[in-house]
Amino acid sequence: MATVKEQLIENLIAEDELSQSKISIVGTGAVGMACAISILLKGLADELALVDVAEDKLKGETMDLQHGSLFFHTSKITSGKDCSVSENSKLVIITAGARQQEGESRLALVQRNVNIMKSMIPAIVRHSPECKILVVSNPVDILTYVVWKLSGFPPSRIIGTGCNLDSARFRYLIGEKLGVHPTSCHGWIIGEHGDSSVPLWSGVNVAGVPLKTLNPQLGTDSDKDQWKNIHKQVVNSAYEIIKRKGYTSWAIGLSVTDLAESILKNLRRVHPVSTMIKDLYGIKEEIFLSVPCILGRNGVSDIVKIKLNSEEENLFKKSATTIWNVQKDLII
Ligand code: NAD
Repeated sequence: MATVKEQLIENLIAEDELSQSKISIVGTGAVGMACAISILLKGLADELALVDVAEDKLKGETMDLQHGSLFFHTSKITSGKDCSVSENSKLVIITAGARQQEGESRLALVQRNVNIMKSMIPAIVRHSPECKILVVSNPVDILTYVVWKLSGFPPSRIIGTGCNLDSARFRYLIGEKLGVHPTSCHGWIIGEHGDSSVPLWSGVNVAGVPLKTLNPQLGTDSDKDQWKNIHKQVVNSAYEIIKRKGYTSWAIGLSVTDLAESILKNLRRVHPVSTMIKDLYGIKEEIFLSVPCILGRNGVSDIVKIKLNSEEENLFKKSATTIWNVQKDLII
C-alpha cells in the first residue's frame, strides 16, 4: 500500500541537495548558541550546521532549535561532533574554546585556545575550501592570526570579530549619554579587542557633527564631561558581565550576525573587524588588528584608511606591540 507521503505528494524533480548559503558554527556554548538563534531569526542561511565536542549538549541544543523550525526560514539544521557536518559552508564561525574566567584577561587564554584551533581548522578547510572563516574565540586577534596560518587561506577570507562588539558598546554608551539611538551615533574603536583598544574620538559624530568640534577636550583627561569614561566602560564591559552572569553572549551573537549578513549578502558595509595589518601605520609584523574593513562575499576586500592623529597612532602601535609580544612565542 502506498504511504501517506506517496498518496499526498507527486514528486516531479529530484531536489538539488547542495545548500547555497550554509553557515556553520563551531562551538555551541553560550556564544555559539547566541550566534545560532540570531542567525536563524534573520534567516541568513538555508542550512545551519553546529559542531561541538560535547555531544550530549550539542544534541540537546540542536533538537531544541529544530523544534523552533516553524518560526524560522532556515530549512535545515544539522549537527555533529565531526567537522564533516560543516561541508560546503559559505561561512564558518569559530566560537569553540575555553572562555575567560572571572578576572582572567583575554590574552591569558591563548595557549589553551591555540591547541583547540590546531585540532579543528585543517578539517574545516578540507570540507569547505572556499569558505570565509569568522573567528570569535578569544584572544580573538591572536587566534585570527593562528587560524589564518593553519588554514592556508588568503588573509581576506579570515576575519576576526575584533572591535565590532567594542564599537557597538561604544555607540550604545554614546547614545545613552546623548539620548540618541546608537545607529545615529557614529564612533569607531580600533586595535586590539580588549584592554588596549583605541577609541577614535576625532571621528565621533552625530549627523556629521564631530563632537570634538563642540568639546575639543573630548576623550582626554582634562575633559570636564569625562567622555573618556565611556571607553573605560567599553573595556570593562566583558569583565563586568562575566562577574555577574558568568559569560557574555547576546551582544556578541548579534554583532556576529551583522557581520555574517554583510558577507552572505555581499553588502560591502564597513565594519571594525580584525584583519592582517602588516605594512599599515608602520606595523612590520604579521598581526591581525581591527581597522574599518569593507566586508562582502569575498571577505575583507578593502580597508578604509583612517587618518590617525599622533596619539591615536601611538596607541594603535601599542596595541600591536601587546599582541606581538604574545604571538611571537606561540607554537602553531
Ligand atoms: P563556552 O565554554 O560556553 O563554549 C565553548 C564551547 O566550545 C563548548 O561547548 C565546548 O564544548 C566547545 N569546544 C571546546 N573544544 C572544542 C573543539 N575542539 N571542537 C568543537 N568544540 C569545542 O564558551 P563561550 O562563553 O561560548 O565563549 C566561547 C569563546 O568566545 C571564548 O573564547 C570567549 O572568550 C569568546 N568570546 C569572544 C567575544 C568577542 O567579542 N570576540 C565575545 C564573547 C566571548
